[in-house]
Amino acid sequence: MKTVMAEHAGFCFGVKRAVDAIERALTKTPEVWTIGLPIHNPQEVARLEALGLRVAESAEDIPGGARVLIRAHGEPLEVFGRLKAKGVEVEDMTCPFVKKAQDMAEELSRQNYHVVLLGDKNHPEIKGILGHTVKPGDVEVVADEQEASQVTRHGRIALVSQTTQREERLAKVAGILSVKCSELHVCNTICKATAERQEAARDLVRNNDIDGVVLIGGKQSANTGKLRDIIASEGVNVLWIEDEKELADNQEWFTGKNRIGIAAGASTPGWLIDKVTKAIAHK
Ligand code: SF4
Repeated sequence: MKTVMAEHAGFCFGVKRAVDAIERALTKTPEVWTIGLPIHNPQEVARLEALGLRVAESAEDIPGGARVLIRAHGEPLEVFGRLKAKGVEVEDMTCPFVKKAQDMAEELSRQNYHVVLLGDKNHPEIKGILGHTVKPGDVEVVADEQEASQVTRHGRIALVSQTTQREERLAKVAGILSVKCSELHVCNTICKATAERQEAARDLVRNNDIDGVVLIGGKQSANTGKLRDIIASEGVNVLWIEDEKELADNQEWFTGKNRIGIAAGASTPGWLIDKVTKAIAHK
């Protein structure tokens, strides 16, 4: 079976930086803690847990004296305060692109803007950005254009985006908010990694004469889910798997196919992509 890899697939810069930091830390200490999963990929989490990663539900669950690594999504300021009070050692691996969104939200809320965050209010990244604003009553989260249209009038609005939003949506929400205030400050804090992987998936199915795409990524990974939607919307057959073992359960999917595209979400490690690609090539 022939395989064609999407131009951008697998770990983005911020996730790779955090995973590398966990591995580095585990060469110096037997245990490293994160609050929440460091990555939406069960196979990579299992690999890191075997090396000594411990995942806590919250700062309260981390034992005193532990070493804690802040994952790429970041954390609210008060979590840093609670960790400091516990006397744990903290290594902040918040992705620099997420940090920029946190800093903008913090600075603009200090300047008395009404801060509107475009994103998913349940996503840890948005919770972290929210936790950097200085006036909790003067900030709100909108998921889309419809929710943006519910924002009431304010003198000055600052619009800050979750890093994984689409630019078209940010532009539309900015247009809606612009008539609700006398001054609108728009921060384009969207990271290119997500868009690059989506563009690469589109390019893979449009320009490579393939019979289907094997998409590799955690089933809980939202960015992998978006890649699946994009590929399916191009009318191409997509098989979403987490690892090479799932190929055996999907033998019939490969029947009649000769050329397979391979795409992977920003949370899929390279070693997993290699394993799946090799297994497909041997079919
Ligand atoms: S998707 Fe972008 S912002 Fe998010 S962790 Fe990766 S590089 Fe950072």
